[in-house]
Amino acid sequence: MAMPKKHHSSARRDRRRSHLGLKPSKPVLCAHCKQPTRPHRVCGNCGYYAGMEVTTPEE
Ligand SMILES: [Zn+2]
Repeated sequence: MAMPKKHHSSARRDRRRSHLGLKPSKPVLCAHCKQPTRPHRVCGNCGYYAGMEVTTPEE
């Protein structure tokens, strides 16, 4: 087994992990109702995705 030769400090470990966080996805405008919605998801306002109605939103 490969073994690390030197101990990495917690500061070094944390600096390495500073790039690992998830960033919030940018909202896009729905092509049907122009409301901001998440990309690659059925619109929560009108229920449309890829130009057709997938779900009917509740009142
Ligand atoms: Zn919509």
